[in-house]
Amino acid sequence: MSAPGGGRLERAALRFGELAIEGWSRAGEETWFRVHPPGLAFDCGRGAPELAGARDLFLTHGHLDHALGVPWVLSQRTLHHREPTRVVCPLPTVEPLRDLILAASRLEGVDYRYELVGVVPGERLIAGRELAVEAFATDHVIPSVGYHLLRRRRHLRPEYLGRPGRELAELRGRGVAIEVESEEVWLSYCGDTGAGVFELSPRIAESRVLLIECTFLGAAMRDRGSAYGHLHLEELAAAAPRLEGCEAIVLHHLSRRHGERELRAEVERALPTLAARIRILFEETLGS
Ligand SMILES: [Zn+2]
Ligand SMILES: [Zn+2]
Repeated sequence: MSAPGGGRLERAALRFGELAIEGWSRAGEETWFRVHPPGLAFDCGRGAPELAGARDLFLTHGHLDHALGVPWVLSQRTLHHREPTRVVCPLPTVEPLRDLILAASRLEGVDYRYELVGVVPGERLIAGRELAVEAFATDHVIPSVGYHLLRRRRHLRPEYLGRPGRELAELRGRGVAIEVESEEVWLSYCGDTGAGVFELSPRIAESRVLLIECTFLGAAMRDRGSAYGHLHLEELAAAAPRLEGCEAIVLHHLSRRHGERELRAEVERALPTLAARIRILFEETLGS
């Protein structure tokens, strides 16, 4: 794949503490991400080998740059993995997606092993040890959702902080509840969305890592965002004050008319307080 300016785009690999994200995203071409833990997929692009290991596919909406890969991944997984694949998508997407999968299945003469689950915003699924995925509302031109990856964490109660390990073990052994549980939004993934997402799903601002699209830049493209259900950089800039709590923000889904360096320059100009925390997909893989 080539980038504006002639650079070659490899899949991106990002790391945030224990969280590893690999993926590929360009508006109108394809978008997919694989997230470890738990190894799930957010969107499927047109089908990428990296997705074949994912037991859970969380699809944001039915546009083919995000969804066409679903039958391909199911075909690969049915061939190489025994466990069924769970495909999660917005509830109104279930029926047409099932038709697409069944057509591919008939074409190949193979019965795919999968389960199709339709979700509405607020619905939650277990996604691994201490992990859950919850759908949230996004703002696109066809039915769409985004997904929070939620992590349950245990912390010592304040009164036990600083006590020696032996004492804590002894208390634990006696059945004393020395810990409290809390839940954090570890990551939020917005697929395609317009600026309505900030009102519809304010909890994305609580994410430690926020993957959010930024399709358009520049004055000439200012009205494109709202017309196509995508974000323009100026809309992200307007929302910047609410995103101050995010530790990292990853921008993806850039239009082919723009380049990563152009986006970086705009980020430095329009989002100065967030710029150091903003990662731009492919920026690291482009070279200089
Ligand atoms: Zn898209
Ligand atoms: Zn779309």
